[in-house]
Amino acid sequence: MKVVVADPIHEAGIELLRQEGMDVVVATDMEREELLRELQDADGLLVRSRTKVRRDVLELAKNLKVIGRAGVGVDNIDLDAATERGVVVVNAPEASTITVAEHTIGLILSLARRIPFADASLKAGKWEKKKFLGCELRGKTLGVIGLGRIGTQVALKAKAFDMKILAYDPYITEDYGRELGIEVASFEEVLKRADFITVHVPLTDKTRGLIGREEFNKMKEGAYIVNCARGGIIDEDALIEALNSGRIAGAALDVFEVEPPIGRPILKAKNIVVTPHLGASTEEAQRYASTIACEEVVKVLRNEAPRNVVNMPAIPPEAMEKLRGYLTLAETLGRFTVQLVRGRMRDVNVTFCGAIAEVKEQTVLCNAVLSGLLSPILTERVNLLNAPVVAKNRGIRVTIGKREDSESYGNLMLLEVKSDQGESLVKGCLHGEKEPRIVEVDGYSLELAPEGRILLVRHDDRPGMIGRVALGLGNNGINIAAMQVGRKEKGGVQLMILMVDQLVPEEVVKEISAIDGVKDVKAVEMEK
Ligand code: NAD
Repeated sequence: MKVVVADPIHEAGIELLRQEGMDVVVATDMEREELLRELQDADGLLVRSRTKVRRDVLELAKNLKVIGRAGVGVDNIDLDAATERGVVVVNAPEASTITVAEHTIGLILSLARRIPFADASLKAGKWEKKKFLGCELRGKTLGVIGLGRIGTQVALKAKAFDMKILAYDPYITEDYGRELGIEVASFEEVLKRADFITVHVPLTDKTRGLIGREEFNKMKEGAYIVNCARGGIIDEDALIEALNSGRIAGAALDVFEVEPPIGRPILKAKNIVVTPHLGASTEEAQRYASTIACEEVVKVLRNEAPRNVVNMPAIPPEAMEKLRGYLTLAETLGRFTVQLVRGRMRDVNVTFCGAIAEVKEQTVLCNAVLSGLLSPILTERVNLLNAPVVAKNRGIRVTIGKREDSESYGNLMLLEVKSDQGESLVKGCLHGEKEPRIVEVDGYSLELAPEGRILLVRHDDRPGMIGRVALGLGNNGINIAAMQVGRKEKGGVQLMILMVDQLVPEEVVKEISAIDGVKDVKAVEMEK
C-alpha cells in the first residue's frame, strides 16, 4: 500500500506507517505537479491544513481509499467529493485535549500568582514583592463552562489543586458530573459562585458573546476569566470594561475575536495575560495528531473500523440513493428538536412509521437523527458512524421503534427526547422525495418546512396575543415572513410558529417571553 505524506507531520507517524509495512512517500517538499503524480496510484494520503484536497485531486487519485488529517479541522478537504468517491476521511480530534487543558491550568496559575506581570516587572529592573501578592487555588471555585473533552480535563486537573469544580453544560447529564466529582450547575450559578471561570465550548451562533456585559456584572467582584477555546465566546469590549473598571481581577486569553490581535485595544486592558493561540502547541500534541491520524489511515487500509471518521462513505452508493431523503428528514428532525429540549438529554427514542419502517438501514437513520441532535452542540463533526459512540459517551440512551401506522402521512418519523427537565415529541415526514416537514410538535399539529430561522411561541389562547408578539418582533426590526397558529383546545394554550428573516437575539427572546400570556419562546436556527 502506498501512502503519500503531503504536509509536514511529526516523524512518529511516518515511522508508524513504515513499521506497518506501508510504502511511504514523503512529499512535503515536492512541487504540486510532482505531488499529483505521486497521488495517481496512492492508497492513502496524510495532510495537515496546507494541502488542498479538492474534487480534481480526488478524481486524479483513482486508488485513494483514505485521507488522514493530523489534527482536527478539515476545511482543506472536499468532504462531499471524498464521500462520493468512497474515500474515508479520518482525523485526530482528541490529540490536543491534554495540551489545551494544561495550557488553561497554566493561565489560571499565571493569573492567581501574577507570574507574567511579575516577570515583566523584574526584567524592567524592579523588585516589587508587595505588588504581586497572589492567591492560592486551594479552596477556590472553578467554573467550567462546557464540560466536553477539554473542559473535563481542566476540571480533573484543577481538582488536584483542591479546587471546587462547578460546571455548566446544558447538554450533559448530572450523572456524568457526579461520577467525576463535579457539581453541575446553571449558567447563572456558575457566574455568581466561581472565583475563576474558564470557557470550553465550541464557537456557534449560540455561544458567540456568551460572556458579555450582563454576565460580567453577575460575576463575583474580583473573579478571573480564561478563554482557551475560541475568540468571540467572550465579548472583548465587555471584557475590556470589566477589567479596566476592576469589576473582575484578571483575564487570560489564548484566542481572540481577530487573530492576530496586534494593535487591538484588548492587549492594552488592565490585568490581562495573553498567549498567541498556543493552546494546542506542544511537541506531544503534534506527535499524537500525527500518530493517531496514521493509525487511523492504517486501519482503513486494513479494512478495520477507524474511530475518528469525518465523512461517511459506509453506505453503498445504490442504497444511498434511496435513503437520501429519509437521511435528510432524520438529520433535520434531530437538528430541530435539540433546540426545543431544555436540560440534559437522557433518552432518545426514534420510531419509524409506515414506509420508513420498511427501510433496512434503520440504525443508519437513527444515527442521522443523533447527528442532527448532537452536531449543533459539539465541536467535532458527529456523523453516521460516530454518532452512537458520541451519544453513549454523553450518557444518552438510544432506542429505536417501529410502527405500521403512519397517521395518514405515508411515512413518518417520531423523535422523543427526554431530558432531566422534561420531554419533547416531534414528528416529521418526507414530502415528495426530498422535502422534510415537521407535522407535530408536543401534540400540536402543524405543517412546517424546517428552514432558516423559526420562532416557536406557546401562549394563552386569547385575543390580542398574536399582535403583541408580532409587535415585539417588529419593534426590534425583525421581519415575519410566514406564520402558523395551532391549538389543542379552545381557550387553552396555542403554539405560534413564526418564520423570521433573521436570527432572534437572546434579549429579544427574553422580551417576548416577558409578554403577559406568553408561556415560552424558542428560537430555532436550521441553517448549518
Ligand atoms: P467538545 O465538543 O468535546 O466539548 C464542547 C462542550 O461544550 C460539549 O460538552 C457541549 O455540550 C458544550 N456546549 C455546547 N454549547 C454549549 C453552551 N451553549 N453552553 C455550555 N456548554 C455548551 O470540544 P473540545 O474538544 O473540548 O473543545 C473545546 C473548545 O476548545 C472548542 O472551542 C475548540 O475549538 C477549542 N480548542 C482550542 C484550542 C486552542 O489552541 N486554544 C485547541 C483545541 C480546541
